[in-house]
Parts: sequence; structure tokens; C-alpha cells
Amino acid sequence: MLYPKIEDVLFAIQRAGSKVHLPTNGTLLAKHADLLVESGVDRIWVSLDGPEAINDQQRGAGVFRRAINGIQAVHAARARKRAAAPHIGIGTVITPLNYRYLEQFFFEAIDIGLLDCISLELQAYLTQQDHADYERVLESQFNVSAAPIARGFVAEAGQFAEMDFGLIASQVARIAAYCEQQGLYLNTYPKVMSEDNIRKYFSAQWFSMSHVKTRCSFPFLSTEVNARGDVTSCHAFYDLTLGNVNQQSIGEIWRGERYERYRRYLRRHLFPICQACCLFYNEKPPVLERQPGVSRAAQ
Ligand code: SF4
Repeated sequence: MLYPKIEDVLFAIQRAGSKVHLPTNGTLLAKHADLLVESGVDRIWVSLDGPEAINDQQRGAGVFRRAINGIQAVHAARARKRAAAPHIGIGTVITPLNYRYLEQFFFEAIDIGLLDCISLELQAYLTQQDHADYERVLESQFNVSAAPIARGFVAEAGQFAEMDFGLIASQVARIAAYCEQQGLYLNTYPKVMSEDNIRKYFSAQWFSMSHVKTRCSFPFLSTEVNARGDVTSCHAFYDLTLGNVNQQSIGEIWRGERYERYRRYLRRHLFPICQACCLFYNEKPPVLERQPGVSRAAQ
């Protein structure tokens, strides 16, 4: 939403009949609230980490207030225009800093009645060993000599050892019960938020968790373009790029030799960093139905 021609982009996507899901820290939502409704944005995911003091410790002073004002502004714009969208969601990444405050956040610090969906994700991380293994794969298979983006995810599992995994599971269970009762869509990464699964996740035992993938279909179904024009399929990992839209068309890149080599590799393996990718845990969200301009709580 910093992009000066955001209006042109959103209306072009609307004319093409495509959907927009917009992740944002929420600080510019109020400014663009009318535009987001008029251009038919399908869903907004506002990243918030917890109650005001916790969130602003991570994201900067004043960010919580601005994001909440933005959510209220979009809700009000939607009601004024009697529009059903954008659906409004909050995405929260569970970390050692915020895990004790999940219920306080959703049930006390915000008006949960303004939301249509919630996403709760465990903090993504890689071990040093995973990162070293990934760099070896990139070098040997794709002639890429370093993976600085993946390095940003490196953390040792020991830093999570003091967390109370049972407390996370019980809070998520109560939030899930609320969502089910009120008809909010709840997304979680991983899918099963049991104490045992959370313990395994934060102990780097990803592959003994329930519902674990052995292959990934996203590179066969979707692609991403970043602000520099680089193309990849691996959502968080732009270390391995497959082309650039300033040099080739997206179709040429999609059908190109490098993309094919990448898919060939993924037919046989995951990457050593896949467990830190949200697409590893992804599943398709259901279509939400709601009355225009009426909050979930009111319904
Ligand atoms: S799970 Fe792995 S292969 Fe699939 S998109 Fe993520 S990093 Fe790429």
C-alpha cells in the first residue's frame, strides 16, 4: 500500500476478474479503506502480534493503534457501501514473546466482532544445519552460491525450550471454539495445534508431527513476483529465483528450463527449508459468506 499507483493495480486486477488477498501491517488501512472496498479486494490480513504493549515492542510504537483504526475504517467503509468484502482477518505469529497473551489479545484487546478470519502460525525457523544443507542444494542443483534470505530464519530450537506448549494449545483450542461458534474462518500453521505437535515443532522435530507433507504442490500451481521482478514459487525464499519479469514474460519463465529443473527436483524431494515455509502447512480456505456491513458478532 506504499505503492503510489496502488489504485491502478487494484482496479486492473478487478477488471481481470482475479482476487486480491492483501497482507499488511495495517498502518495504511485507514487511508485506503474506501479504495479497498471499491476495488473489490477479497481479503485483508492484518499482522498483529498481541495486545498493544506486546505488538508495539516488536513492530514499533503506535502501530497497534493505527492497525486497529484501520480495521475499524475498512469495516465502516464496507458498511457504508453495503459491500461484503474485503473480509478482515488478523494473522498472529506465535513467538516466545507473545504466546502467553493470545486469549487476552483476541478476547480483550480487540473487538473480535470486526473479524471474519484469524490465522495463528507458529514462528517459522530453521536450524543452522538446515540452512547449510539448503545452501548445498542450491549450489549443486541450481548454481546459486548463497542463501541470505533463508539465513534470516535461522534460530536454534533451544531458544523455544522455556515456552509452555500446553498453554499455547489450550489458548488456541478456546479461540478455535469461539471461531466455530461464531462462524469465523480459523487458519492454523501447523494444522493440528495439540501440545504434542507444538512441542515437536519448537524442538525441530518437524517430521514426526501429524499431517506432515512429503512433497509440495505449490511450484506446480502458482508463482510469485517480488518488488524487484524476481520470480519464485517458494513464498518466503527468494534465494532461488527462476527469472525476472523485467527480462522475460511470466509465461516464458513459467515454461522455462530453470523452472522445469526446479520442478524436477521437487518431484523427488522437499527442500531442507520447507518446514519454515507457510505453504508447507497450507490448505485452501473456504469461501466466506456474510451479510454486507454486519459484523460476525451482530450476526
Ligand atoms: S514448502 Fe518448500 S517447495 Fe513448497 S513452496 Fe515452500 S519452500 Fe517451496
